[in-house]
Order: sequence, then C-alpha cells, then structure tokens
Amino acid sequence: MTARQSHEKLREEVRKVCQKFPNEYWRDLDEKREYPEEWVRAMTESKHLAALIPEEYGGLGLDLSAACVILEEANRSGANANPAHAQMYVMGTVLRHGSEAQKREYLPKIANGELRLQAFGVTEPEAGTETTATRTFAKKKNGKYIINGRKIYISRVQYSDLMVLLARTTPVEKVEKKSHGLSVFIVDLREIKGKSLDVKRRRVMMNNFTNELEFRDVEVPAENRIGEEGRGLKYILDGMNAERILIAAECVGDGRFFLERAVERANGREVFGRRIGENQGVQFPIARAYANLEAANLMVEKAASLFDAGEPCGAEANMAKMLAADASWECANVAMQTLGGYGVDAEYDVERKFRETRLYQVAPISTNLILAYIGERVLGMPRSY
Ligand SMILES: Cc1cc2nc3c(=O)[nH]c(=O)nc-3n(C[C@H](O)[C@H](O)[C@H](O)COP(=O)(O)OP(=O)(O)OC[C@H]3O[C@@H](n4cnc5c(N)ncnc54)[C@H](O)[C@@H]3O)c2cc1C
Repeated sequence: MTARQSHEKLREEVRKVCQKFPNEYWRDLDEKREYPEEWVRAMTESKHLAALIPEEYGGLGLDLSAACVILEEANRSGANANPAHAQMYVMGTVLRHGSEAQKREYLPKIANGELRLQAFGVTEPEAGTETTATRTFAKKKNGKYIINGRKIYISRVQYSDLMVLLARTTPVEKVEKKSHGLSVFIVDLREIKGKSLDVKRRRVMMNNFTNELEFRDVEVPAENRIGEEGRGLKYILDGMNAERILIAAECVGDGRFFLERAVERANGREVFGRRIGENQGVQFPIARAYANLEAANLMVEKAASLFDAGEPCGAEANMAKMLAADASWECANVAMQTLGGYGVDAEYDVERKFRETRLYQVAPISTNLILAYIGERVLGMPRSY
C-alpha cells in the first residue's frame, strides 16, 4: 500500500469515528461549556490518539504525517481536536527524553486510555512568550522536588491524570544562559488537584478547558524528572516542532470544514433569482481561500515528512503553523461572509469553528514569534529579543 493509500484508509477510519459525533454534539457542548468526554473516549478506543506511541508500548506506531491526517480529518468533520490533541505531542517528551522505566510505566497506559496525559504546563503570567523567564520553581529535597509557582492558560488539567511541567531548578541569576536551569517533570495530578494544586478555569472565547494554576509545595518524586536536570527547555523545544505541525494540520481541517460550508451555501442559496455563488464577489474569495489552504497544506506535508525523516524542520514547522493558521482564518471569514446572517447563527456551526480556529493565531505560538523566527533564524536579520 502506498503512503497515500494508507492515509486515505486512515481518513476513512477517523471519519467513521467522528460521524458518531455530529455537529449537534459539538454545538451542545459549546453551549454548555462541557468537555467532549465521549469523543475523547471513542478516539482513544480507536487508538487514534495513540498514533505516535510505538507499537511496543501499545500504540499504533505511526509517523507524524499520519498523525496529521488524523487531526485534520477530525477538525474537518466539525470536531475540535483541541481537547485531546496534547496527548499526541506531550507524550513525545516522555518518548524522546524519558527513561525506559518512565516509558514502560506511562506509555502503555496512555495508549490504552487508563491514563490521560493532556496537560502541558509551560506558560506563566509573567513569562508568556518569554519561556526563559519561567519562575515556577522546583526545589530538590530528600529525593523529591517541592514545586511552587503559578501558571496560566494550562489546558485540560481537569481532564488529565498527568501533566508535563516546565519549572526552574536553578535560579536564573546562577545560570550562564537564561535557557539553562529549567527542568521537565511528569506531575501526577490525581492526588493533588484541589489540594496542593489550585486549578481555576478561565472562561475564554471558545469551549476550551484552560486554567490558572497555583502550585503550593507540590511534591514530585525525583524519578519523575524527565532527562537531565537543567536541560528541560531543550526537551520542550524539541517537541514543539511536532506540536506546531499537528496544530497546522488541525487548521487545514478547519479550513476544509469552512470551505465545504461556503461552497454548499454558494451553490444552494438563491438571492435575486440566482445562486449567490454565480456572483464572482462571492465565488472568488472562496476560490482564493481554497488556493491558500492547499498551499498551506503542502507546507504542512513538507514539514511532517522532514520530521519523519529525522531532518531539521524548525523553519518548515513554524511556516506550516503560520500559513495554515492564516489560511484557516481566511476560510473562516469567507465562510462567515458567504453565509450572510446565518454565518453568525450558532445553528450553522460556522461561528463556533470561527472562534475555535482564531486561537491558532496566538497559541501555541503567536504569529509574530514565527515571523521573528523566520526573520532572524532563517534569514539572518537582527534579533528583537
Ligand atoms: C485557550 C488557550 C489555551 C492555552 N493552552 C496552553 C497550555 O495548555 N499550555 C501552555 O503552556 N500554554 C497554553 N496557552 C498559552 C499560549 O501558548 C500563550 O498564550 C502564547 O504562547 C502567547 O503568550 P502570551 O499570551 O503570554 O502572550 P505575550 O507573550 O504577552 O505576547 C503578547 C503579544 O505580543 C507579541 N510579542 C511578544 N514579544 C514579541 C516580540 N519580541 N516581537 C514581536 N511580537 C512580540 C506576541 O506575539 C503576542 O501577539 C494557551 C493559551 C490560550 C489562549
């Protein structure tokens, strides 16, 4: 079977799972601000969320290109993969940098759904984009780390058993470079939520389960540190290419969702005795958005295949994320305009996905920071930070 054929088969499988969760399901959750528990369970049982976990640990052992197909197809169906996508890329930190004991302990249980690793704790109120300004501190004492500090916009903590956390282990004044002295931990959330870990949900524009966290003497066994002490930022950055590429694939899926609705409406809606799509003022923006989406998709595919080949892909992963987020946002606007008043009507689902896809201009990395990466690291222009 060629890669294209196996991707097509995978698409069909994901479609089959997602068909059980029509847009009414997502609309209802959006209104109630509830977590898509049944969808996450179904995607776990079908093993799609364990796509990147190697077979020896109970996963599907697929590559990133295949994982992209899964998330793209999920979002194309009207689902929002956001409540579950972190499991795919956060797990990568354990897989790439964890000890064999950590992998044996966690990966099979994540693959079979016994444990959820949906939470990824990096952003802080005083250290947003500037990750090296992280203040949350893990102090080593008697074979444990005692963690204190605050994090903001940490998603899915309520629905996760584990969190991969970035914290300082050496004060910034005592390190040679600001990027040193940060470490990564697997934090077991089950016993600490509501006790030494305060979790306060933030209400945001879309149905997203993001939170403010306060760590008050949270104890983490030393064996839960991933890799070497002080090298955590490198491990986190290492996983970010996968995260960006996967989220770019979700944006492509969103773009396809919007275009399908826009085309359907342009073909079906009659005003002034003709279909609105006959007007080039309606048709051309849809055609342009399609062309931009297809171009962005090529960059997503390129970035994923470089990643899968083990080649450097920082520039491509960043460009894929930016281009796909821009393309899905263009498609969102085009769909909203094509639907006229129905575009902002919740029953038509465009406004829900419009809010969902807007996030990707900001998170997990904002467009400006991608442009800075391209300008400075790829093109060699002066640094702004
Ligand atoms: C719904 C939601 C869910 C999230 N989930 C998670 C999560 O699970 N885990 C997690 O760790 N984080 C999460 N985040 C955080 C997210 O990754 C950050 O919001 C994002 O990285 C931007 O950081 P900030 O909000 O602090 O923006 P800031 O750092 O305050 O930046 C604000 C603006 O200034 C711009 N800017 C800053 N510096 C420069 C510069 N040098 N040049 C040009 N422009 C600049 C930025 O591009 C941005 O547009 C989430 C955020 C949201 C909204």
